[in-house]
Amino acid sequence: MTEWNGKTIVITGASSGIGEATASKFASEGANVVLAARRTERLQSLQERLSHLPGNVVYKETDVTSQQQVENLIQFAIDKFNAVDVLFNNAGLMPLSFMKNKKVDEWEKMVDVNIKGVLYGIGAVLPHMLERNEGHIITTSSIAGHEVMPAGAVYCGTKFAARVIMEGLGKEIAGSNVRTTSISPGVVDTELTDTITDEEALEMLKKGIGLDKMTPLQGKDIAEAVYYSVNQPTHVDVNEVIVRPNQQG
Ligand code: NDP
Repeated sequence: MTEWNGKTIVITGASSGIGEATASKFASEGANVVLAARRTERLQSLQERLSHLPGNVVYKETDVTSQQQVENLIQFAIDKFNAVDVLFNNAGLMPLSFMKNKKVDEWEKMVDVNIKGVLYGIGAVLPHMLERNEGHIITTSSIAGHEVMPAGAVYCGTKFAARVIMEGLGKEIAGSNVRTTSISPGVVDTELTDTITDEEALEMLKKGIGLDKMTPLQGKDIAEAVYYSVNQPTHVDVNEVIVRPNQQG
């Protein structure tokens, strides 16, 4: 038994990368884990792979650009496990591009997933957490939410927004037992760059930050930081965590 037995975490973007690793961490600690993403075959396979762990893992197909689907996700978790202790707003996209290349569809997707998806998550879970006067909302921002990089104007804009929204939320609910954390990873070895369609941006990224020479973080490195953030005594509120590969400047 750990103190996570009977507690519930909902994870968006759980079908790969950081979300998948965080699901594995919390399942190994005995939590109820609700996996959410669009690719249900990935979620089902993850559920099967985690079935030997002490936690109870379930999944719900969710597109975070739909407010109704995010509301349904939180209600599903409450119906299943009676409460949501942690919401990890982690779903995100990073189709970096130069603005001159005018990838308007990709700008819109980033705003919809990286900002509106986070807002829908907060909106869906906050009344429930405030009513219980207990809970933790944690959102994946990025180093890109602290520093702007070329070809990252829109992505960085969304990650700055996510971080600032979390800061504003934290100030608004200070004094309650609902806590907030922004987690800002540096380069993590995941599928995130697969969404980049701008060849110029991809080339610049490799050269510009030495991606090809760097030992990146792994999803589990961020999962540990998430676990640390939500695993503190009630009087401790870890608002912001930055974790980067030590070769990343
Ligand atoms: P992945 O590409 O591996 O994971 C992205 C996740 O987001 C997938 O599970 C994907 O699931 C989900 N997702 C995308 N769009 C939607 C949607 N509309 N609705 C629901 N889920 C969606 O990358 P990471 O694990 O790296 O990314 C996780 C978070 O970490 C993102 O917010 C990213 O911006 C952030 N981050 C990543 C860094 C890195 O270097 N990897 C660095 C800093 C921050 P599906 O497609 O199945 O819906």
